[in-house]
Amino acid sequence: MARREAPAAGPGSRALVVDVIRSAAAISRVELADLTGLTQPSISNIVRELITDGIIHEIGSADSVRGKPRKLIAIKPANRFGIGFHLGPDTLTCVAVDLTGGVVGREVVPRPSASRLAGQFEDFTAGLDLPRGRIEGLAIVTPTPYPGSSSTTHEPAATRADLADRIGLPVMVENDAAAAALGEFWSRRVSREQAFGCIYLGTGIGAGFVFGGALFRGASFDAGELGHMSIDYDGRPCPCGNRGCVERYASMAAVVADSGLSFDGAATVSSAYDAIARAAVNGDADAFALLDRAAGHLAVAATSMVNLLDLGRVVLTGPGAALAGSIYARRLRTHLERTAHSRQRHPVLVELSAQPRDAASIGAAALVVQAAVAPGHTPGA
Ligand SMILES: [Zn+2]
Repeated sequence: MARREAPAAGPGSRALVVDVIRSAAAISRVELADLTGLTQPSISNIVRELITDGIIHEIGSADSVRGKPRKLIAIKPANRFGIGFHLGPDTLTCVAVDLTGGVVGREVVPRPSASRLAGQFEDFTAGLDLPRGRIEGLAIVTPTPYPGSSSTTHEPAATRADLADRIGLPVMVENDAAAAALGEFWSRRVSREQAFGCIYLGTGIGAGFVFGGALFRGASFDAGELGHMSIDYDGRPCPCGNRGCVERYASMAAVVADSGLSFDGAATVSSAYDAIARAAVNGDADAFALLDRAAGHLAVAATSMVNLLDLGRVVLTGPGAALAGSIYARRLRTHLERTAHSRQRHPVLVELSAQPRDAASIGAAALVVQAAVAPGHTPGA
């Protein structure tokens, strides 16, 4: 692991200290100084401030080589909460997480109109009995719309200020894949030194990246369009304007279309996909071959993504990874072992999300938590 240059204590120092404590689980002040490069007096000041704010607490002592026991500090889980809403086509998934990213409440309701979102926020938080003063805000996630599409997913951005007014708390808006990446980063205690990526398998395919502890957003909050990475010059045309986009071969919608199966009119893409995925994991050879081929296509794009960014760890998540995640993960691992440019220098870990269906809403709530307790994240700060 690369040692960072000793930074001067500044606005980013507090975020850095919170992030190192989060990824270490429990750590002493001496180790904190060592890992952050900050001086002991700076660490003492920041730690005192964080204890006063209720963000961290002392949890006991570890033996020191020099004989004097060292107090360990950790994130105080149940002291502040973030709320995440994931707007699906028909449903709204509501999640509350604590400071460690642990889920403390979850509810799925039929998708309400924009004007009902504030009411739903009140109902959800009241049902969980969360003290109002400890809720840091709300983040809403939606899929990224196609360029030029008349998608209604811009709706939350338009109503964000109004919603913030009505609930009296900050409201953020993010796309599903980016939020899921931050959620996995936060709750898996991924170190900020690790170049971290997340692949979100939904109706389409997206990716999110966390570099230096901060979500990478690009010039217009549009980074991570993995689904529109082309894997074939003469490939299938895509509504985005390009050809051979991996989403046309490996997304839930592509798998359902390629199955040649006819589902009844009431079946959504996700229910039809789940039926195929269930058959595949229960030993249906045709269904398995279909998903394995989709996974093979994704693996080709995943290698390009890993190579472009020199990623060290990739998590697979999203509703498409809920039942068939192991089929995708196996393909990605074997392909990356043979093709990742960095394979001689470091392994590229491919992991499966523990809560793939809720990853976007959990990530939204984690975004709120990160903004509240570790603001000032900029890559490399
Ligand atoms: Zn495309």
